[in-house]
Order: sequence, then structure tokens, then C-alpha cells
Amino acid sequence: MLNIGCHLSSSRGYLAMGREAVKLGASTFQFFTRNPRGGKAKPQDPADVAAYLEFAKENGLTPGLAHAPYTLNPCAADPSIRDFARRTMADDLERLSVLPGFMYNFHPGSHVKQGPDTGIRLIDELLNDVLSTDTKTTVLLETMSGKGSEVGRTFEEIASLIEGCRYPEKLGVCLDTCHVWDGGYDVHDSLDEVIGEFDRVIGLGKLRAVHLNDSKNPRSSHKDRHEKIGEGEIGLEALVRVVNHPALRSLPFYLETPNELPGYAREISLLRQNYKE
Ligand code: FE
Ligand code: FE
Ligand code: ZN
Repeated sequence: MLNIGCHLSSSRGYLAMGREAVKLGASTFQFFTRNPRGGKAKPQDPADVAAYLEFAKENGLTPGLAHAPYTLNPCAADPSIRDFARRTMADDLERLSVLPGFMYNFHPGSHVKQGPDTGIRLIDELLNDVLSTDTKTTVLLETMSGKGSEVGRTFEEIASLIEGCRYPEKLGVCLDTCHVWDGGYDVHDSLDEVIGEFDRVIGLGKLRAVHLNDSKNPRSSHKDRHEKIGEGEIGLEALVRVVNHPALRSLPFYLETPNELPGYAREISLLRQNYKE
């Protein structure tokens, strides 16, 4: 069965997200750990966590994907911004430790004129501080579109981030179809080649989740503007090939398309109809 969900608001807690996911026909979901612009997270309610875990078991939900706030920049030049990123990630991972199987996704960051090599070094410094052999949650590096000075547009940069971390076994990759397309990878005409390259450079064993998005812009635009499934430059047929690809089909897929909840429900149902069991 296709394991698919969409991005949901976390403001009413885990049980509310689980209920919403089931209503939409989803089997998983993604959420921000706190306001996407950063700031303090609401305290986590142990009763809500327990109720969610019970509900998830009864309804066959698979573990969710927590997304770090966009303001988290582990390779900022300003040490106080890096310190905010470090404390936020540590706090998020602490909260997620009571949610078995949940993973944590973050944008590697923007090096802003320091250059990608310094960016990669700073990100690894942060990961080496925050992670330990006891970390329970797998941390995913998201593939980026390369807008501005984003680190993580190429599979090579993602691979060096993993190599520079003392705890590579705690890391995985979340492939965002809009981002890799905007970054230059041809997931429309050459999906097999793109996946083959991912395997050669990073290793498919590291691929743990997919953000399934269409793109408003042509390939290599370095823009990062998501579009509804089938209404963008990647198109429905190519995204159907993504969910059915032998190397991807068993991964969790998360929609981050510009939709309200009914739009997400339609996209989930459309993709389920096009999934070859
Ligand atoms: Fe993201
Ligand atoms: Fe994404
Ligand atoms: Zn994006």
C-alpha cells in the first residue's frame, strides 16, 4: 500500500493530526515541530502523545515526519544564529524521543557568502554536538533547490555532510521532488538515472523519505516554488513514476503542495489510484 500523507498543522497536538490524517485518507503526516518561523515550542503533553500512539496503532498510521523550522540555519555566519539552531534541534530531538519511528527533517542551511565548504563544516559541527550514540530519532537532510546559498542542492554535498558527521548511522536523506528538479536533476525524463546517481553518490540505503511536490518552475530554476500535483512542470505522469519506482515505492511520501485539506485529500486519492499494488 502507498504510504502517503501531507503536511498538517501541529497546533492542536498529535492526536488531532492523527485524526486529520485518517480523514484525508493518509497513512502518515508531516508537521512543524514549532512555528515555521522559529520561536518556542509549546510544551508536549504526555497524555496527547499516549492517545496518539494508541490511535495510530488502531488506525494503521505509520510514524510521522517532524520538520524543523525554516529559520533554523546550522551554517549561519553569526554564532548566535547557529546556537539557536543547535538548541532548537536538541530540544526537538528530545521531544521526539517519545515517538517511536518518527524522523526529523531539516534544511541543511544557507552558507551566505562563506562558501559551501565552510557551510558543510559548520553543519557537521552542529550535528556532532547535537547527536550522540543515544539519539533515538533518525535525522534527515533535505535535498535543496539551491536558491540563494543553500547547501544540499547536489547529492555530493549531501554525501560530504554525512561523511563529516561522527554519527552517520543517525542520518538519512529526504528527497524533495520539487527541490531536486529546481536544482537540476531531471526526475521527469531520467528518473532511473537520477536514482542511480543518488545510489552511487550517497547510497540508496540512506534515502528514508520523499517530499512529493510538483514545481511551478522549469528544471534548474533554483527557485523552490511548490505546485499542486499535476499542475506544474514535473507533471502527474512523472510523479506517478516516482511513487511506483522500485527504489522508492515503499518509502513514506509527504505532500507539501499549496493546498487546503480537501486539496490534499484529492491528491492522496489520485496518487493511490495510480499506485500499482
Ligand atoms: Fe523542507
Ligand atoms: Fe520539502
Ligand atoms: Zn520547498
